[in-house]
Amino acid sequence: MEVGNNNRAKNAKEDWIRIPDHHPAIISQELFDAVQAQLRTKGEPLRNRKMGTAERYPSAFSPLKGKVLCGTCGHSLRLSNTKNAAFHCWFTRSAPDIACHRLHILNLELEEVVQESVIRQAKIVLNAAHDDTHSHRSKRQLECERSLQALQDEKQRLYASLVLGDIRPEEYKERKTALDADLARQRDIYDVIREQEEKTAPSAASIKAALGALESETLTRELVDLLIDKVLVYPDNRVEIQWKASGFGNLISAGSGDWNN
Ligand SMILES: [Zn+2]
Repeated sequence: MEVGNNNRAKNAKEDWIRIPDHHPAIISQELFDAVQAQLRTKGEPLRNRKMGTAERYPSAFSPLKGKVLCGTCGHSLRLSNTKNAAFHCWFTRSAPDIACHRLHILNLELEEVVQESVIRQAKIVLNAAHDDTHSHRSKRQLECERSLQALQDEKQRLYASLVLGDIRPEEYKERKTALDADLARQRDIYDVIREQEEKTAPSAASIKAALGALESETLTRELVDLLIDKVLVYPDNRVEIQWKASGFGNLISAGSGDWNN
């Protein structure tokens, strides 16, 4: 008789296990196995069950999970699954000489700090989108455009001189070569400036994220994924946010010059 055979699971009455000269079987093998399994689970002490602390404290969740790093050693901080969930630097737990030994920050505390920073940055980004907070950057671009224009004008005048017979072809060639080199250099500078400005200016996606951040009452995983690359925690309780969304973290709010994050 094969007791453990699962094919017996969908048993009809005649397949029930019968033990000779004994009570007739009253339950199917399938039900019997299920009950046994349940009894085994219930009878075991908590620590032997396949149930980690994560199941015991299902509330230990953080939208920042996986993004929080130790600013000192660079390793991921682990979120403890306790009532007062905290991020810990696990890497140097047995190295008392390292600055981040026993470094930890309460999850709720960190969430609050990050959310405050998100809101502050979202406001800056939205202000920049409305007025011309980053016009000093446009000035740089404008200056570069003027230089380019001046070089092009000079090139035209040079050609006119050649046509009018004021200069000889050799001289024209020489000066044109020099001008072309200047123009090429100026175009390179222009490209770099434009690229930098595109990077730091809030994109449409950033503006949308900023609006979402101001609307949301809590820090959601979705918002964190959209805005934040990493959160670094340092031993002196300093928190540094590395932003993902353009415009976040690199625009300076009007009237204040010392934003760190
Ligand atoms: Zn560390």
